Amino acid sequence: MTAEYRSGQVVQMRKPHPCGSSEWEIVKTGLFFQVRCRGCGRRAEMRRDAFEKSARRIVSDPQTPNAANMSKTAARPDTDVFSESDST
Ligand SMILES: [Zn+2]
Repeated sequence: MTAEYRSGQVVQMRKPHPCGSSEWEIVKTGLFFQVRCRGCGRRAEMRRDAFEKSARRIVSDPQTPNAANMSKTAARPDTDVFSESDST
């Protein structure tokens, strides 16, 4: 499986976590991957090759072109009130 992993992706692992969930969210990529269990929120760190071996498939990818890519309105602050200095 030669997928490109990115943080934010949810990956299903071959072996479920003791909590029952087998979905992990990638927190950080690199030589070591930091992942967080979707079931219990526990964080784990594993080597990239170990991760790739135990990863089964990508469940959700926040950066897939056909997923929520549209209507991604940039975080525009609605409050552009300038703090009027009342120090007159
Ligand atoms: Zn868990």
